[in-house]
Amino acid sequence: MAKENDKKHKGMVLVISAPSGTGKDATIEKVLKKSDNIVMSISATTRSPRALEKNGKSYYFLSVFEFKERIKNKEMLEYTKYCGDYYGTLYEPLIENINKGLDVILKIEVDGARQIRNIFKDSVHIFVLPPSLKELSKRLADRGTETQEAINERLGTAIKEMKFAKNYDYAVINKNLDACADEIYKIIQVERLRISRLNYKEEIVREVF
Ligand code: 5GP
Repeated sequence: MAKENDKKHKGMVLVISAPSGTGKDATIEKVLKKSDNIVMSISATTRSPRALEKNGKSYYFLSVFEFKERIKNKEMLEYTKYCGDYYGTLYEPLIENINKGLDVILKIEVDGARQIRNIFKDSVHIFVLPPSLKELSKRLADRGTETQEAINERLGTAIKEMKFAKNYDYAVINKNLDACADEIYKIIQVERLRISRLNYKEEIVREVF
């Protein structure tokens, strides 16, 4: 699909949540390639970097002290503790991007999503679901990075997280990466057409008449 760059709308806050193993990272990579107007929010976390993860690209890797300082200084828009580590969205880069008219994807878990909904009433929340729990279990096992015990724990967390899908605006089932990315991109395109998001409303109407 061709890239496009439509600046006739305000920047959108897009929240994407999905249980571990659903393939959200790969899906989001594909969505980002579809438009120059969509960027990722880079979160801060206290967890250690994994292989190939770079500071300032995958996450801002902070110490617990640094993270708590940012909370104290009100630099965090939302934050939560997940599996023993802090994760949070920094206020300034997000606001800067929205003000530039860019749509920003926040790849965050359900508690952060709830906080974002309270701050940005017009944010768009998408929950990515696996085709089935059986398939999710298979995908986690195929990664080969976790013990059976860890897989079972992730499955338990996935079931708990999926119960929050009802609070989202859209549910997309990830049967196939390309199809899932296409569906998410369609949602973004439709949401961009909401009258409440369009800048220069009068100019657009004038063009039509
Ligand atoms: P991981 O350690 O696998 O990168 O992320 C663990 C979980 O934390 C994922 O569900 C991810 O979406 C979530 N997460 C990442 N960044 C943030 C953030 O800034 N805020 C919140 N609330 N969750 C986040």
